[in-house]
Amino acid sequence: MNERRTEIESIENEIAALRKQVEDYKALSVELTERVPAGVMVLDRTGIVLTLNRNMTAMFDIKSCNPSGRHYADSVPEDIAEQIRQVRSEVMEKGFVINRPLHHSIDKAIEIDIGLNATLFEMNGQPLIIIVCHDRTAVNELERLRTLDAKKTESISRVAHELKSPLTAIKAYCDVLIETYRSDSTAAGFIQGIDSETERLLRLVGELMNVTSIELGQVRPVLHQVDMAHLARETLQEMNMTNKKHRLVLRSEQGLPSVMADGAMLKEVITNLVSNAINHSPTGGDVVVELRKQGKNVKMDVIDQGLGIPREHLANIFQKFYRVYRPDYPDIPGSGLGLAIVKGIVEAHKGTITVKSAPSEGSKFSVLLPVSRAFDAAREEAALGRQPFA
Ligand code: ADP
Repeated sequence: MNERRTEIESIENEIAALRKQVEDYKALSVELTERVPAGVMVLDRTGIVLTLNRNMTAMFDIKSCNPSGRHYADSVPEDIAEQIRQVRSEVMEKGFVINRPLHHSIDKAIEIDIGLNATLFEMNGQPLIIIVCHDRTAVNELERLRTLDAKKTESISRVAHELKSPLTAIKAYCDVLIETYRSDSTAAGFIQGIDSETERLLRLVGELMNVTSIELGQVRPVLHQVDMAHLARETLQEMNMTNKKHRLVLRSEQGLPSVMADGAMLKEVITNLVSNAINHSPTGGDVVVELRKQGKNVKMDVIDQGLGIPREHLANIFQKFYRVYRPDYPDIPGSGLGLAIVKGIVEAHKGTITVKSAPSEGSKFSVLLPVSRAFDAAREEAALGRQPFA
């Protein structure tokens, strides 16, 4: 007798555990449907709403507090009901509908743009339709802003191109006038002033042309094998001629592989990073360019012990026109375009650029550029003793 009771109790416990499991799954399914970042509605073949989540209620401004168990046309706004009717007949015929645009206006004032996906599935032999709707207003707005930004970039590019010729002409006239008024120190001083300001404007125009052509996807590196150590040495030597306050140091690993790159563009990267390091080290000091192989890349670090960059600005300095305001050093030159150009060039070479910096401790900009495949292949051949390694 006791044995039987124990057996019954054990079966009862199992049933209770199973019931609990079913309840848990039900709760999970409701929770998931509610938390999906989209509007979800499930209809039976006659159009009765079986499930409807809060997002769908909000999207279609459904007023009824419990539309489940009622026909969808009694709950959703008229314009949507008509569109769902068409979707239903299409789904029943084809089995699915993908990314169908639905247009709906709330109180005739706010237009919302919705993308609808629908699928037919079967449960207990009954065909059901699951409808999932995404509000595309944000995506469309992003698209609109992107188009606007591209138009703005095109206008800046056009203006920069227009400005270049007259500025170049002014610069040429200045050169002639400087010669003509060499003996008149007052006039020569004014002309020198015009000349150096024109040069500054020409630099800015050049930077604007570079940054806009990168943004418009017009930058096409002309690739050949580039010896980074040679390029960096040459660039630093040139920069040394106009810089007396800082020591420009190159440290390069022996046998550094070449990179497939546009040499002129890489030179611009080095010049920009080193000029930044110089400009932001107002008390002088060393600016070091370090080159080494790292995995399948050549790594270039440009290191200074200058002012450093506050943490909150680090994420933004690669954006165009972004500059860190330094009230103590108002004379540091710059337009806020250099790093945007550097990043554009590095990415056009399938490379990356990162920065580590802290105020008063200096900065380290690290560029990774993929090693030229031809170089790696030649080295493998050399390692196998098939060919002398050049
Ligand atoms: P800019 O023409 O102003 O130098 P960049 O795009 O090259 O423009 O740099 C953006 C900003 O990043 C600079 O204005 C400066 O505040 C900061 N920055 C760049 N490089 C350094 C550096 N080596 N040390 C400190 N700050 C730097």
